Amino acid sequence: MTKELKVRFAPSPTGYLHVGGARTALFNWLYVKNKKGKFLLRIEDTDFQRSSKEMSKEILESMRWLGLDWDEGPYYQSDRLNIYREYADKLMEEGKAYRCFCSNEELEQRRETALAKGEKSWKYDRKCLSLTEKEIQEKLKNKIPFVVRFKVPAGKTFFDDMIHKKIEVDNDSIEDFVLLKSDKTPTYHLSVVIDDFLMGITTIIRGDDHLSNTPKQILLYKALNFPIPSFAHLPLIMGPDKQKLSKRHGGTAVLEYKRKGYLPLALINFLAKLSWNPGEDKPFFEKEELVRRFNIKRTSKNNPVFDIKKLDFINSKIISSMESEDILATMEELIKDEDRGKYILKNDRKKVLSAINLLKSRMRNLIEFIEVLENYLSDIKIYDTEGEEKYFNKNSKEYLMQFLSEIKQIDEKDFNTEKLENKLRFLAEKIGIKAGEIIHPLRLSLTGHRVSPGIFDILVFFGKQESVKRIENALKYIENEKNRS
Ligand code: GLU
Repeated sequence: MTKELKVRFAPSPTGYLHVGGARTALFNWLYVKNKKGKFLLRIEDTDFQRSSKEMSKEILESMRWLGLDWDEGPYYQSDRLNIYREYADKLMEEGKAYRCFCSNEELEQRRETALAKGEKSWKYDRKCLSLTEKEIQEKLKNKIPFVVRFKVPAGKTFFDDMIHKKIEVDNDSIEDFVLLKSDKTPTYHLSVVIDDFLMGITTIIRGDDHLSNTPKQILLYKALNFPIPSFAHLPLIMGPDKQKLSKRHGGTAVLEYKRKGYLPLALINFLAKLSWNPGEDKPFFEKEELVRRFNIKRTSKNNPVFDIKKLDFINSKIISSMESEDILATMEELIKDEDRGKYILKNDRKKVLSAINLLKSRMRNLIEFIEVLENYLSDIKIYDTEGEEKYFNKNSKEYLMQFLSEIKQIDEKDFNTEKLENKLRFLAEKIGIKAGEIIHPLRLSLTGHRVSPGIFDILVFFGKQESVKRIENALKYIENEKNRS
């Protein structure tokens, strides 16, 4: 019987779930859903100084928001410390690990001496490997702190990475790394190997910052007689300056994208396409479609660059494809804990939906959408400054006045795009100007913005009464401004 395929995402809660971590989680998720295996979540929180409960919570919340559901866990390594200690003892009993009593100061001194002698690097010199049993007992009796080091065997270590292909390392280049720290907490290498074995993980997918850790972990698997899982190391995401993506590049926390009005499906598509080609050039795929198409072997080895414009593009395409009801529901969720956007909740639902429908094909994110929407659903408080300078003047006031008297004559029931367009073009011709000279100030009067959907759709959206009111308000505003200057 073949073993059930199982992957895991194993974040350390030392910070938010950032986009790099989310990409790792996503690739595990896509891989295992495609192959109908199981996805396990494990919080690697043994670094007590740097880990926090808030961050663990934040990571889970980010995963839920992205819709990356897991079948098992979350397990917390901090609940499993005894297990790691038992295995460290077992390795010591078998002579595969040993206690090292060297203090950090001693180690540093030996390193410095070696480097001063011209050596390029220094690795642990195995001083404590030659301690006699008597010396060890003596030090234990005197309560000299110690760490447990793995005794790296001679030879070479190979593995086949699903993305990087064959990797070979000379064990000579690996130092006898620490398994248990002096406070008896495990290092990452020890806990990760034991847990991946005990939890039945068959495939490890993680960032290629871990590539150099894998040979060490393979040596541990072998020492413990554990079967070795398969590995895939994903290329790290770079900022636009080709440096490893970090906080320096601005917001990288997943939930920050939520707060900025991005949709989880947009982030998923964006992250999936950073390192993998779904084989067809579509702005975005539904999650099921990504799962169906996923093939880890088609992951690129090159470091992808995080380009926010691509995310904006995908997000805008998703927004424009959504039902207005769904957009509104997501907006409502978003403004629940925010100061902005409350006007949406106070407005007539039908009107809000019709405004969303009018605008949804041109919005990059839901926060921008909420901001733009305000002028359509409440009285305009300020007009776009640049627009005002350009389009509110004596001439445009005159054109607006004439257009106003034209539309006042239109019957409510004939207030449609065709009629309005005829009126406007006719008027422009009569005055001897381009239609734009009326359209630009009119748009600013109606929406407060310089850009908007088609002007006739806007007029119809507001209807005769509201359009008249908005133009009159703009005229008053122009008048006042003129008197002031
Ligand atoms: N806790 C490790 C990290 O967050 C996980 C490494 C692994 O996937 O093995 O980098």
